[in-house]
Amino acid sequence: MSDLPDREACAKLDAADPLRRLRDAFTLPADVIYLDGNSLGPLPKTVRARLAHVLESEWGEGLIRSWNDADWINLPRRVGDRIAALIGARPGEVIAADSTSINLFKLLAAALQLRPGRRVIVSERGNFPTDLYVAQGAIELLGGRHELRLVDAPALAGAIDADTAVLLLTHIDFKSGRMHDLAALTRAAHASGALALWDLAHSAGAVPVDLNGAGADLAVGCGYKYLNGGPGAPAFLYVRRDLQDAVRPALFGWMGHARPFEFAAPYEPATGIVRQLVGTPAILSLSALDAALELWQDVDIAAVRAKSIALTELFVRLVEARCAGFGISLASPRDAVMRGSQVSFRHEEAYAVMQALIARGVIGDFRAPDLMRFGFAPLYVRHVDVFDAALALHAVLASRAWDRPQFRARAAVT
Ligand SMILES: *Cc1c(COP(=O)(O)O)cnc(C)c1O
Repeated sequence: MSDLPDREACAKLDAADPLRRLRDAFTLPADVIYLDGNSLGPLPKTVRARLAHVLESEWGEGLIRSWNDADWINLPRRVGDRIAALIGARPGEVIAADSTSINLFKLLAAALQLRPGRRVIVSERGNFPTDLYVAQGAIELLGGRHELRLVDAPALAGAIDADTAVLLLTHIDFKSGRMHDLAALTRAAHASGALALWDLAHSAGAVPVDLNGAGADLAVGCGYKYLNGGPGAPAFLYVRRDLQDAVRPALFGWMGHARPFEFAAPYEPATGIVRQLVGTPAILSLSALDAALELWQDVDIAAVRAKSIALTELFVRLVEARCAGFGISLASPRDAVMRGSQVSFRHEEAYAVMQALIARGVIGDFRAPDLMRFGFAPLYVRHVDVFDAALALHAVLASRAWDRPQFRARAAVT
């Protein structure tokens, strides 16, 4: 325990942090240590200024002219190109639209269409519920001809066979933070002639992702987590370039039409990624996401990963050293190579402990049945925050401050 850094050592690490200037790009409440950017990223200052401009000038003054003059019409593509740079994709392979759930539906339908003779969707038993619901719903809609084959992580590669149309996986597990080997599992899918569809909700902006390098076919992800696009921000989707024109979209909408302003029947899909658009883009939300993504322009994702590992390692070490004997156990991989940018700890009273922590200004979240989840977004979380958060967790556990009725009352959103 003697080699554990003290607060001063943490402050030194922060002073030498190559990403330190980025914290100032966010609006963060002074009395809060924010460890929930994996659920909702904080407000970037660029967003405040951009939205003011979009409201007052583009919408307020420009009115409908701004579809052309402010290039609103191409905003889904421009935002998609910014995201492409963070996930190892080329310009024109990513588009920002809709929600992650809806994009999953669109791309799962595309995958089943591209492998018409095959019946099976392979996924993981612990996958994020919306991913499994979307698969269940798609199967029902298509007449029940397909099967959702759910297995545990170690059995995934072995569960893919000649009847598998698609491997549908979340890259980083929302509960434990465990990270799959995206390239190896994509290879396993391809070896059986199946497609790989990745959910990057907890990956984009948190860890390096190389979709092109892995030969991944399809992917979706979230705009409001590590990309800081704001509550309910548009999501994104990726389709490998050579597959884009082979897919008839699941939802025929006018924004995905080859010539939307000819208003002509019948439907004819645009070429490229644009055919995955459906309806009119949410310009206010997309503008916020676009401004949030400006922050990434000069950010080295390798530096993000290095800091993320340093922060999560530090948290695991501090909590295990200080909080041993209080019924806490690590629920994330101990090996940083296998871990995303979050750490989860199990505790019988995880909900109440987290509420007590939040009351002290350390914001993480709870995932049923017994997990406290802490996200470490390297753009704004500092080593001293990790130090203080571990200290606060110890104080809450040692004093049993969590053992109060107000901390046990469950809110609608946990
Ligand atoms: C957060 C998250 C989603 C969110 O989907 P929405 O449609 O934006 O609500 C989807 N998948 C995973 C794995 C997530 O973590």
